[in-house]
Amino acid sequence: MAGQLNSTKRLIAYFSMEIALENAMPTYSGGLGVLAGDTIRAAADLRLPMVAVSLLYRKGYFTQRLAEDGSQTEEPVEWSVGDFLTEDSARASVSIENRRVELRCWRYSAKGVRGFEVPIYFLDADLHSNTEADRNLTGSLYGGDSYYRLCQEVILGIGGVRILRALGYNDLTRYHMNEGHAALLTLQLLDEEAAKEGRKSIRSEDIEKVRSKCVFTTHTPVPAGHDRFPMEYFTRVFPGQTGFLDLKDASSADLMKRVLQAEQNFLDLQEAARRGASLNMTQLALSLSTYVNGVAKQHGETSRQMFPEVPIEAITNGVHAGTWTSAPFQQLFDRYIPSWREDNYSLRSALGLPAEEVWAAHLIAKHKLLETVREKTGLKFDPEVFTIGFARRATGYKRADLILADLDRLREIAKNSGHFQIIYAGKAHPNDAGGKDIIRRIFHAKKALRKTVPVVFLDDYNLELGGKITSGVDVWLNTPQFPLEASGTSGMKAALNGVPSLSILDGWWVEGHIEGVTGWCIGESRRTAAGNTPADNTAEAESLYNKLESVILPLYYNDRAKFLEVMQHAIAINGSFFNTQRMVQQYITDAYLH
Ligand SMILES: *Cc1c(COP(=O)(O)O)cnc(C)c1O
Repeated sequence: MAGQLNSTKRLIAYFSMEIALENAMPTYSGGLGVLAGDTIRAAADLRLPMVAVSLLYRKGYFTQRLAEDGSQTEEPVEWSVGDFLTEDSARASVSIENRRVELRCWRYSAKGVRGFEVPIYFLDADLHSNTEADRNLTGSLYGGDSYYRLCQEVILGIGGVRILRALGYNDLTRYHMNEGHAALLTLQLLDEEAAKEGRKSIRSEDIEKVRSKCVFTTHTPVPAGHDRFPMEYFTRVFPGQTGFLDLKDASSADLMKRVLQAEQNFLDLQEAARRGASLNMTQLALSLSTYVNGVAKQHGETSRQMFPEVPIEAITNGVHAGTWTSAPFQQLFDRYIPSWREDNYSLRSALGLPAEEVWAAHLIAKHKLLETVREKTGLKFDPEVFTIGFARRATGYKRADLILADLDRLREIAKNSGHFQIIYAGKAHPNDAGGKDIIRRIFHAKKALRKTVPVVFLDDYNLELGGKITSGVDVWLNTPQFPLEASGTSGMKAALNGVPSLSILDGWWVEGHIEGVTGWCIGESRRTAAGNTPADNTAEAESLYNKLESVILPLYYNDRAKFLEVMQHAIAINGSFFNTQRMVQQYITDAYLH
């Protein structure tokens, strides 16, 4: 029974392509991995018998370098696996192109507030017995082509279930797929069910059994977030496989049609490949899960429109409160709300904190951030000046440059309502040319605005920088194109630190926003059917400018007491709720025990 920490039976297996646990472990690229790490930490706090599986990325995601003009280049990250993880003796293997790919695993243990531990196993193909190419399959995150990616998903899904068996986890009652990347685990579970009956092909009773054990969380309405592989890739990975489903069985045939999104039935997988079918990982996960959810109420709605064939619920994301609360606010909460770590709901009493102590804690966090700005860029930002923060993956729909739409207008606002400065961070995916353009545009605007509106872009956004930016600015800006921000979590980190949001009403903000109380909205609520009209960039930029000019800057400079009330409401109303403790409790009652 190697690896069974605390001699606890594990009931929930959580599968994620990326998991962010420590800043120096480059095992994540962004929001999905950060959420996975925060979920696991909350599970440990709640003493939930969970075990997690991911891949080990020896070359990590990447280190971001930015040239004078904002052009991004990527460098591999060097890290020493043994400094963070312990190798386990368990082994498993998967078959890829008829080669046996051996897998080992490395354990990390997330320790909760009461000492309970949740083990996370990182699968590693870097073994001498594997070919050079196979050894690299767990090399980099989002690094290769689509075929490489499919091989990684075979390791995560199929290899992941097999390593859990090798580790002795035989009592698992739920398999949680954090995004469709892990969907191939269903094939391994189907195989196991058929094998129990001495069969080779899958029948409806196997499908029912597997479905009763699987949970699927979909994370984005953006098509690129939903993996589809040409069926020809699939048959290349598994050349011996003609059919794993008994197509004479009606529900098997139906499953195959749905997963391949095909009109007709194919005789076998090879035929599907010849006819150009493709394997849809989201459909596979949807078809084989007893519980499916989106990551905010609005996103549940959007997902139901995208996939009307299955019921889709919503559990709104959160962040791990103990992790994302800055040191000065941790000390403040420890003093006045001592139970806040074990019971995040108690943060609701933040309204009773002495306002001057909230301000003092905020100033410490702000100074820390401005110190980092100085270390990274040599620029001296003024702590007296209202500071706007924006940090997230640089990609089209997040519209990092919306606030830069009209530079003259920005200069005018600074003159009329008070000075402000903007702090940016965020990596563009290596192949996202549009995202890289956005960073260059921000650098261009930064030059044009010079001292009137100081702008800085901090390179190499990561967990540590994320913590500093979300806690050290005065307002958290979010300008996604509705309805593409499924949830967003950085605004929740800000809320825990008393930093209100100024955001488009999308993702979590639809639920967290109370105008003038927890922060401010940009544009209109678009929850109605009319909300499906495309975003009007000019109108939304204008709305942002108006809020800044006539509401937020005057409040900050002329009515600090009222501004502090908004800060305290951000903690009390949003920090107490948008955390992974509440989120995991919802998963327990709605998905794990249901
Ligand atoms: C919180 C965080 C994210 C996710 O933020 P979103 O608001 O969901 O985009 C991504 N990367 C890092 C480093 C983070 O800390």
